[in-house]
Amino acid sequence: MHRDLVEVSNVWQCDSRIDALKAEHEALNRAIKAAELALESATQSVAQADQALTSAKAADRANTRELDSYTEKRTATRQMIDTGTAPDYAAAERQLANVIARIDALENSGLELLDRLEAAQAHLRAAERERESATAALAAAKADLASKDGPIRKELGEILPRREAAWEHMHPELKPMYQDQRRKKKRALVNVVEKTCSVCSTFVPPQVWLDTDSGKEAHRCTGCGGWILP
Ligand SMILES: [Zn+2]
Repeated sequence: MHRDLVEVSNVWQCDSRIDALKAEHEALNRAIKAAELALESATQSVAQADQALTSAKAADRANTRELDSYTEKRTATRQMIDTGTAPDYAAAERQLANVIARIDALENSGLELLDRLEAAQAHLRAAERERESATAALAAAKADLASKDGPIRKELGEILPRREAAWEHMHPELKPMYQDQRRKKKRALVNVVEKTCSVCSTFVPPQVWLDTDSGKEAHRCTGCGGWILP
C-alpha cells in the first residue's frame, strides 16, 4: 500500500471511531431528552384528566343536589294536593307536572353524568399508566447513559492521543486534502467495486487501480475525493 494511503488510513480509522463514539454519546443524551419530554407530556395528560374528573364529579354532585330538592318539592306538592291544603288547586297541579318534568330531566342528565364520570375515571387511569411507563423509560434511558458514559470516555481518552500521533505523522501535503474531506463530511477512503467508486459510483480508470494495487501511487476518486484503497 502506498505510504499516503497508510497515513490517511491511520488518521481516518481514528476519526471514524471518534465520530462513532461521539454519535453514540449524543444518541444516548437525545434518548434522555426525548424521554423527559414524553414524561412531561404524560404528566400534563394526568393533570388534565384529573381536572376533567374533578369537574365531572362536581357536575354530578350539583345534579344530585338539584334532584334531591325537586324530589322534596314533589312530595310537598303532592301532600298539599292530597290533603286539600293547596291555596290554588289548579296551580298546584301545574306545579306538580312541572316538578315531575324537571325530575325526569335531572334523572336523564344524572345518567349522562354517570357515563361522563366513568369515562373520566378510565381516562385518568390510562393517563396514569402512560405516566408510569414514561417514568420507567426515562429511568432506563438514564441507566443506559450511566453504563456507557464511562467506557465511551475511556475509549475517547485512548484514541485521541493516537489520532494526534497519526496526524503528526501525515505528510503536510495530505493534511489540507484530508481536512477538506472531513469538512465536507465525506469518507477519506473508498473501495473500487466493479470499476467504480463504492461511495459515489464514479468510474475508476484501469491505470488508477493498477497503480493503487501495486502501491506505486495513491489516487483519489474524481467524484467524491476519497483515497482509493487497493
Ligand atoms: Zn467516489
